[in-house]
Amino acid sequence: MAKYLIVANWKQNGSKKILENLTKSFLKARKIKNSVVLLPPSIYLSSISSIIGKDKKFSVGIQNISPHKEGAFTGEISASMIKDFGARYILIGHSERRHIFQESNNEISNKLILSMENKFSTILCVGETIIERNKKITKKVIANQLKTALFKSKQLIKQNSSKLIIAYEPVWAIGTGKTAQIQDIEDVHAYIRLSLSRIIGPKHKSIKILYGGSVNNKNASTILSLDDVDGALVGGASLNSKKFIEICSSI
Ligand code: PEP
Repeated sequence: MAKYLIVANWKQNGSKKILENLTKSFLKARKIKNSVVLLPPSIYLSSISSIIGKDKKFSVGIQNISPHKEGAFTGEISASMIKDFGARYILIGHSERRHIFQESNNEISNKLILSMENKFSTILCVGETIIERNKKITKKVIANQLKTALFKSKQLIKQNSSKLIIAYEPVWAIGTGKTAQIQDIEDVHAYIRLSLSRIIGPKHKSIKILYGGSVNNKNASTILSLDDVDGALVGGASLNSKKFIEICSSI
């Protein structure tokens, strides 16, 4: 199995043609040895998934799901529906969902349960804002985000802990070009590992921890070589074929 997991979060960018061409260029890059997950806008899931076909290194996932199982929730897509479109991963609690769409910890916790129940690999994002960082409460914020998101699904996670992935994304580092300091990434990742061991117990060892926040082709190899960094969540640079291929093959 590949050591690192590199996730491309395309957000609300591109078009069917642009994203299909990007996917094709990634698939042609023979130097990529790590596992790569592509998160297109949901309406492009099936086309990206069919381009990937049976390639074992690449998978697709969705950037968000409904916190409800089914029913009168206009505009929402449930975890169970996504299975029909080849998705294997679900991203939950991205800072843009938490801050722009005011997603609550309770909704995030419900989404996590639905994702795990439907046997998806589930990427939970956590991270502090610049105000919280300046107040020196980063660890307190992350402990609370982990506890509230994971508490209700503890048993589900213990049964299939390798399906849970945590992404540490300092909010102030997302899309800003400001990457967290190496020491801070190591400290926070070690703290997440410790928190997971307290919440999940020994099974925490199979949970990957990714770093996200202005990862690019210049800093990827340094970040990926740090202790407790098992991969990266990449936004902006994942829309550039050359840069993203370099990130995926940097280690
Ligand atoms: C993200 O969207 O999760 C992200 C990390 O974006 P960027 O790489 O652009 O900072």
